[in-house]
Amino acid sequence: MNKILIIGGGLGGLFTGALLAKSGYRVEVLEKNTVAGGGLQCFKRFGKTFETGMHILGGFEEGGSLYKICSYLGIMDKLSIRPTDDDVIDSITYLHDGQTYDIPKGRRQVENYLVSKFPDEHDGIIEYFDNLYRLSEEVDLFYLRESNRHMLQHSEQFLWSADRFIDNYIKNPRLKELLAYMNPMYGGVKGHTPAYVHALINVLYINGSSRFNDGSQQLADLLVDVIEAGGGCVHKGEEVTAIRVENKLVNYVCTANGNIYRADMYISDIHPCSLLNIIDETAFPRAYRSRLESIPNSYSAFTVYVKFKEKKFPYINHTCYCQNGADMVWNLWKYDESRDWPYGFMYMTPPSRNQDEYATRMIVNCVMKYDVVEKWENTRTGCRGDEYNGWKQRCMERVIDKIDMLHEGFKDAIDKVFASSPLTIRDYYGAKEGSIYGFSKDCTNMALSQVPIATKVRNLLLTGENINLHGICGVPLTAIETVEAIIGKNVLIKKINDVNK
Ligand SMILES: Cc1cc2nc3c(=O)[nH]c(=O)nc-3n(C[C@H](O)[C@H](O)[C@H](O)COP(=O)(O)OP(=O)(O)OC[C@H]3O[C@@H](n4cnc5c(N)ncnc54)[C@H](O)[C@@H]3O)c2cc1C
Repeated sequence: MNKILIIGGGLGGLFTGALLAKSGYRVEVLEKNTVAGGGLQCFKRFGKTFETGMHILGGFEEGGSLYKICSYLGIMDKLSIRPTDDDVIDSITYLHDGQTYDIPKGRRQVENYLVSKFPDEHDGIIEYFDNLYRLSEEVDLFYLRESNRHMLQHSEQFLWSADRFIDNYIKNPRLKELLAYMNPMYGGVKGHTPAYVHALINVLYINGSSRFNDGSQQLADLLVDVIEAGGGCVHKGEEVTAIRVENKLVNYVCTANGNIYRADMYISDIHPCSLLNIIDETAFPRAYRSRLESIPNSYSAFTVYVKFKEKKFPYINHTCYCQNGADMVWNLWKYDESRDWPYGFMYMTPPSRNQDEYATRMIVNCVMKYDVVEKWENTRTGCRGDEYNGWKQRCMERVIDKIDMLHEGFKDAIDKVFASSPLTIRDYYGAKEGSIYGFSKDCTNMALSQVPIATKVRNLLLTGENINLHGICGVPLTAIETVEAIIGKNVLIKKINDVNK
């Protein structure tokens, strides 16, 4: 087995491809868009570069998982990354009472900061962080440790819901909310999102958050270089439209351009439900198909992109979260045109390599459910009609009004502004229901949200955000698991750790 074909050149497809190329495989990637990267993809509008789906990074500090993986691939020193400020990695503002909390970098620093704000909760805060880090320790892959452990060996709290986990240690309602402020970073849903997801994402960012200078495309391009250096190729503008299977083996795949590709092994980085639409119906048992179709997806997002006038708006070197009122953090995805949407949002000013004190751009992400735009789901980008455009404009104005309340002069600083909706995400990434993080993890039905890497089609594996965890940390870690399904358990982790000794 030598040649491997990857369907989808997103974060997962490119990391899996680069890691395989490093292990001596010839990798071909088929990407439907004209630019590779998926969530790493950037686009230019009004002369400025904007990121689509990778604004906040974790794990790139020295010794972090991404630092180690990228060092192994030989690309770490080529990336231009800016850490957020040590004294504030995230600020959270509650609009209804004007309170702002500035979360610092580092476990002890966050503990001390929260104890200073909520002294009555001292013991609960210490216990909460002890257990948060303990949960993260239960996932060997998160720390790139060799492992043969399985899900069943986890502690009981691992599969509690995130809100129950917080409630267990904390009494103060504001502190409970504050500890859940990263909900939009993992699609948190009350009673459903497992405590371990909450723990991994929080630990990831508390240990060190950062952002790309001049956008995330640089990582996609470097991963393509690694694939090409191994004799492989990333074909852009090649949308896979059919996967032909015979005797439980993929025989070949066809693309919209009429090309046919064959390989020894195939890996899918696209949403599993999109895979079902293009693979022969007989490839998978009916029960497997209906299981994949029935897994709920995480919510989507409405994003506002701002280009600033020159030297009008300050550059902010941390992420800002804002919430309208009490108890909003678990209800961000609710949309009611007649009420005060958005109930909460996050915004950041992306940096440049030569960043000065002024911001050139802002990206605002507001959680939104797909059903808000369902009535336009049969339309395509640029041709969605006046009603949709009017709705989008109204949403955009509401977001701008909110930020203007937080930053005086914000409206005057805007040069250009535009927005994307859950339909944009659906069409751009091919993500079911425009989901930002793919399949939801649900602690009330973990069996449903566990999608194995191996499939019943013997030469077809899965990778990407739907398999384990999403995002800049979860997807590369799943790429390791997918590669190890081919080269052997713990083989790659050992190599990565050897390089980083
Ligand atoms: C608005 C938004 C903001 C986000 N912000 C962050 C963030 O700040 N930090 C973070 O860590 N994560 C963030 N994420 C999540 C992160 O982007 C995803 O978890 C990650 O990109 C998923 O990687 P993937 O490889 O599974 O999917 P993708 O990166 O989406 O890759 C899938 C690829 O498959 C391609 N494709 C689909 N169908 C076909 C086909 N038929 N043929 C060929 N190619 C096909 C798509 O074009 C795409 O390139 C964000 C996501 C969104 C949507």
